[in-house]
Amino acid sequence: MFKLPEQAILFEESHFNAKIRQCPNCSLKWFQIFTEFLNSKGDNQTFVFIPITDDDDVSIRQCKSESALISCISSIAKLRRYLVMHYPGEEASRVAWTSSDLHIGYHD
Ligand SMILES: [Zn+2]
Repeated sequence: MFKLPEQAILFEESHFNAKIRQCPNCSLKWFQIFTEFLNSKGDNQTFVFIPITDDDDVSIRQCKSESALISCISSIAKLRRYLVMHYPGEEASRVAWTSSDLHIGYHD
């Protein structure tokens, strides 16, 4: 996932970023969102990868605020399965496909 070339960077902060990536082989686009926060259990990182259409791409790029972006991407995520990679500090990482509602957590 991380090797897919970046097509657009919507937000780029140390504890929050949002990007559109595209597969060079099949042209499939992916929306990636990253959040991170520190607590007593350590460094909590979550990456979400959602396959998107060209129409989704247009909608996503129009979001100028984090809240608008999360609202947009949450409605897109309802329509398909997506990949969540969760690294909760010292606990075991969890990587899974899901179709449950998207929850973008708190970040520092
Ligand atoms: Zn591909």
